[in-house]
Amino acid sequence: MLVARDRMPGAGRGGRGPPEPDEIVDGSTRLDTVNGNVEEAIGALGALLGDRLSTSAPVRDLHGHDESAFPDAPPDAVAFPRTTEEVAAIVRTCTELGVPVVAFGTGSSLEGHILAVEGGVVLDTSLMDQILRVSIEDLDVTVQPGVTRTVLEKRVGGEGAFFSVDPGADASLGGMAATGASGTNTVRYGTMRENVLALEVVLAGGRVIRTGTRARKSSAGYDLTHLFIGSEGTLGIITELTLRLRPIPEAISAAVCSFPTTQDAVGTAIAIVQSGVPIARCELLDATMMRAVNAHSELGRAEAPTLFLEFHGTPAGVEEDARYVEELAREHGAGDFAWSVKTEDRSRLWRARHNAYFAGIGLRPGCRVLTTDVCVPVSELAATIDATIADVADLPFPAPLLGHVGDGNFHVMLLIDPDDPEDRRLAEAAYERIVDRAIAVGGTCTGEHGVGLGKRRALGAQSGEAIEVMRALKLALDPSDCLNPGKVLPEPQHSST
Ligand SMILES: Cc1cc2nc3c(=O)[nH]c(=O)nc-3n(C[C@H](O)[C@H](O)[C@H](O)COP(=O)(O)OP(=O)(O)OC[C@H]3O[C@@H](n4cnc5c(N)ncnc54)[C@H](O)[C@@H]3O)c2cc1C
Repeated sequence: MLVARDRMPGAGRGGRGPPEPDEIVDGSTRLDTVNGNVEEAIGALGALLGDRLSTSAPVRDLHGHDESAFPDAPPDAVAFPRTTEEVAAIVRTCTELGVPVVAFGTGSSLEGHILAVEGGVVLDTSLMDQILRVSIEDLDVTVQPGVTRTVLEKRVGGEGAFFSVDPGADASLGGMAATGASGTNTVRYGTMRENVLALEVVLAGGRVIRTGTRARKSSAGYDLTHLFIGSEGTLGIITELTLRLRPIPEAISAAVCSFPTTQDAVGTAIAIVQSGVPIARCELLDATMMRAVNAHSELGRAEAPTLFLEFHGTPAGVEEDARYVEELAREHGAGDFAWSVKTEDRSRLWRARHNAYFAGIGLRPGCRVLTTDVCVPVSELAATIDATIADVADLPFPAPLLGHVGDGNFHVMLLIDPDDPEDRRLAEAAYERIVDRAIAVGGTCTGEHGVGLGKRRALGAQSGEAIEVMRALKLALDPSDCLNPGKVLPEPQHSST
């Protein structure tokens, strides 16, 4: 999803405007061209942070590059705050000077979210890495935003608890809240939206607010916590999160089975969800993705559409669930249903699933990936996946498909040669068709990756008049448009009259 130069956000803003193409390619040229406000901000932030403010080209380049296929866009400086007070001071300074501030967790987002398309300061939260409080009694935890999900997992795992949201990357919890992330456990435990209880947020101008409480439910006023979840750093910077934990189940079993066709695999997934079996994970990998995963993780499974499944509960319960699902799978043609309660078998399976993105890239070394992320009502899943497979079948590059099908969410990885304009054209067109097809059946353009730069048009198409309410919220909370400018909201449509 390359953005044409004249579509780059920021064109026409009073501020610095879009970077020139040579600046994007070669981040080292950026500082020669910064405007006075940025220089002033860098001076003030340098005095505040010392060597935790960097203007070096390698550091800026690292923070102007993500996993998307957009061109790199490095910031003018990178700040590494440790405390909420430092975040507030950075945001205050930048807001007063009209300098963009882009929050950065681990940079694993997939739609150009963290690219500094208007320059400015990237605020890297990696030093805000403290787990501030753990309550096993209440099954909740309070963390700074730079704590990653695997660090939290290690900390609470020994105490019999886990945090359920597990995107494929070891993302920061601040970034996960900001993108409304989810993962393989979502069908049972929900997304970030269901697992964040409270937030501390620094608003434009530097004001600090707290949203939500540690209570499990509340009817108290507007739900500001959920306003910030999925806001992608455009409404405020999250400086603290209170999250729900879950007890580690007494028994866990994992199962894997392959099918003659993708339709059979999807049909099984739908039957599982509709039967009410409390499935904890239900993941589809198509035959191309299984080829990639076999090569990458040495799974040795059939190169056929495959479901990875997991059940949580009591020993008797998980066995009963697995046996019931085995019957459903066999009715849909599965021939090799295998299940196990052994930790090493489960770990191997889910490690392979979590590495599927990198396995997919291995199908075409040197490629860049356009990843689709639609989510549809489960009743529409079979037809939508069918149409998608037919749509991408003739593309001249690999397009493996995988998905959290228990949620109705699936991804097609469009593996393009970044230097081939025809690859890009074909991939972008397929990407838009897949998005429009999902919206047409009552689905969403993004189930979990978020909007960033890549899905702004689609968000407009999906939201109708509600996009104007989103614009009003942005204007109310960030009137000078300093927080991650150019992201999420599509350019306003001007009438020609
Ligand atoms: C291999 C791979 C697998 C993936 N699998 C999944 C998956 O299964 N499910 C899924 O949901 N995603 C997945 N993703 C996408 C990505 O991991 C998620 O979007 C993740 O939530 C991003 O977290 P991050 O810390 O990397 O955030 P970043 O990429 O650093 O930032 C993402 C956005 O959040 C904003 N942000 C970051 N921190 C803050 C903060 N403290 N306050 C306010 N805004 C902030 C940024 O400005 C940006 O707009 C995958 C990515 C990769 C590369």
